[in-house]
Amino acid sequence: MSKLIIGNWKMNVGVRESLALARAVLLGMRGKTFAPDVVVCPPSVALTEVRKAVAHSRIGLGAQNLFFEDVGAYTGEISGRMLAEIGCGYVIVGHSERRNLFGETDEIVKNKVLAALRHRLIPIVCVGENEEERKCGEAEKVVERQLRMALDGVRFSPHGCVIAYEPVWAIGTGNAGNPADVVRIHTTIWRILSELMERTLVDSVRIVYGGSINSGNSYAFLREQAIDGLLVGGASVKISQWSEILHTATQVIESQQ
Ligand code: PEP
Repeated sequence: MSKLIIGNWKMNVGVRESLALARAVLLGMRGKTFAPDVVVCPPSVALTEVRKAVAHSRIGLGAQNLFFEDVGAYTGEISGRMLAEIGCGYVIVGHSERRNLFGETDEIVKNKVLAALRHRLIPIVCVGENEEERKCGEAEKVVERQLRMALDGVRFSPHGCVIAYEPVWAIGTGNAGNPADVVRIHTTIWRILSELMERTLVDSVRIVYGGSINSGNSYAFLREQAIDGLLVGGASVKISQWSEILHTATQVIESQQ
């Protein structure tokens, strides 16, 4: 399977910058046979412009968040229905910034996963332990709880799902995880998924890693079979870093052909 590289642009760029970034990403992928699958997640106000820019390309479009209701008096919220209408294919759910800064519980995350799937959006479900939990040796336990809660009652289809293992202590800190530890957690995630869904569906789920990925460390993660790709935050809005990460992914894919 090809590698999947997701750029989470967070609230770091406006509409004009998002458009410029999208055009640069397009340019960087031109003519590459073994390019990775790429999804860009601009801020919601830039989704429509970016969609126009990446239309007819292989670049997927993702939102950074959604609300779990489809319609109603929820001032300021954006529903899965709206995201589908403007041409989104993916949506990030349960990012640690949403969990920690905006009080998203495992229950809310589950409802958001259900809302995404209702509208045929591929959820990019983020799980990961914090620093304290890591120090207590509870990483696997936390990831298992978050994953089981997020996928509780979800009826899977081959439509697809991405699980992003993103340890909170690695996000935006410059301290990327150790690839061997990440492989261990990814194997745990794979085991849990195998208990929750049929084998053919498990094989369609991609398990990616995120946390302080940059052009210097991306190879160490991408070369691992158990790591299906990367969720990149800070480095995804720096076009030289992002291009190098894509180049590395391309080389890894080529070498695995
Ligand atoms: C993220 O926010 O999903 C992320 C991985 O951020 P960063 O790459 O900046 O650590």
